[in-house]
Amino acid sequence: MHEFSIAAGIIEIACEEARKAHADHVRSVTCRAGVLRQVDPELLHDAFALAAEDTPCAGAELSIEQMPVHLACPDCGHRFSAHGWDWQCPKCGQDATCLEGGDELDVTSVEVDSEATGAQAKGGLTWSAS
Ligand SMILES: [Zn+2]
Repeated sequence: MHEFSIAAGIIEIACEEARKAHADHVRSVTCRAGVLRQVDPELLHDAFALAAEDTPCAGAELSIEQMPVHLACPDCGHRFSAHGWDWQCPKCGQDATCLEGGDELDVTSVEVDSEATGAQAKGGLTWSAS
């Protein structure tokens, strides 16, 4: 299942950040998922909760930011967000626009509980486009 392997990847990153911060519990994780990844937020939440059992991520809150498709026009330099599958430049009509965002899948923030003052750790991750 697509979402389950993503959840496992997120948990791996978050646990690593917790270890680095000498924390034994992850409070929350924020990730960014481009719409082209076709991640179902509900399924990902469920998969995350299941996969997090018996790890430092158990009970952690997962926030998913859905990122729109961002395109750039090679002709006129116009940058815009695509709606649906219409990727034509709205300024000059160029069809072959370049993808600048919307296919990302990153962990942008991991908040951990530590003995000290509740340190915040941040990690980055990019999955291969499989
Ligand atoms: Zn253009």
